[in-house]
Amino acid sequence: MTELEGKVAIVTGGSRGIGQAIAVALAEAGARIAVVSRQAQGAEAAAAQLPGSGHAGFACDVADASAVAATLSRIESDIGDVGILVNNAGITRDNILVRMKDEEFDEVIAANLKGAFNFTRAVTRGMMKRREGAILNISSVVGLTGNAGQVNYAASKAGLLGLTKSVAKELASRGVRCNAIAPGFIRTDMTGELTEAQVETLRSQIPLGTLGEPQDIAGAARFLVGPGARYITGQVLAVDGGMVM
Ligand code: NAP
Repeated sequence: MTELEGKVAIVTGGSRGIGQAIAVALAEAGARIAVVSRQAQGAEAAAAQLPGSGHAGFACDVADASAVAATLSRIESDIGDVGILVNNAGITRDNILVRMKDEEFDEVIAANLKGAFNFTRAVTRGMMKRREGAILNISSVVGLTGNAGQVNYAASKAGLLGLTKSVAKELASRGVRCNAIAPGFIRTDMTGELTEAQVETLRSQIPLGTLGEPQDIAGAARFLVGPGARYITGQVLAVDGGMVM
């Protein structure tokens, strides 16, 4: 028996990139997965490709609280009670501070930070009742360090760390754990637009000498939501090739 057998896990932004790799890793560990993304087709296709059975895809914008509540009801009736939540959905709208538009700031906070709040608030009622649950938020190293040209994104990712620690403190006595991963630079669509020269510069700042792969985040995620991490809560794990120490 694998360690997540019988568990239901929601992975937001699970249709591609890091979220898809996390969905695969949790499915390999035996969980049934609800893949959530805005595009139904992407979510359904990703769910259909997962190992094992009992998975399904759901179209939902995490920034929309009423859509999140409705999606959770569908997940519970189609798949079962949710024991694991991975808040991974995220976007960038980069710009220098003086040129940043209100919409660029608001959209990033809504998807990256409010989205995680929406899903966390929705699932925790059931988790508290069952006195069991694991929540994992995908932040970023720029939430720890800041980054020029990303005030909106870095603020959303730093906000996720405050959310993580507050949820961990509030729900520990109810058997619910909450942790975060701060990925460094990982090869996905999000980083796909970097030029070779930018990638070279980045590499020189990474002690392990290379960008990461989505599977590098997925391995850490499988550990943090599983029984091997049962005494770990409120922590931020940087998975970044040693960039931030
Ligand atoms: P990605 O390849 O761009 O994938 C983003 C995923 O999120 C897609 O499945 C997308 O599907 C979904 N999504 C975006 N907005 C959504 C919304 N409002 N509601 C529901 N789903 C939404 O991104 P990634 O590189 O894998 O990044 C995943 C997470 O890791 C993000 O939170 C990102 O900030 C974080 N991260 C990435 C890196 C990196 O180097 N790649 C580094 C640090 C942190 P739809 O478009 O269909 O909605």
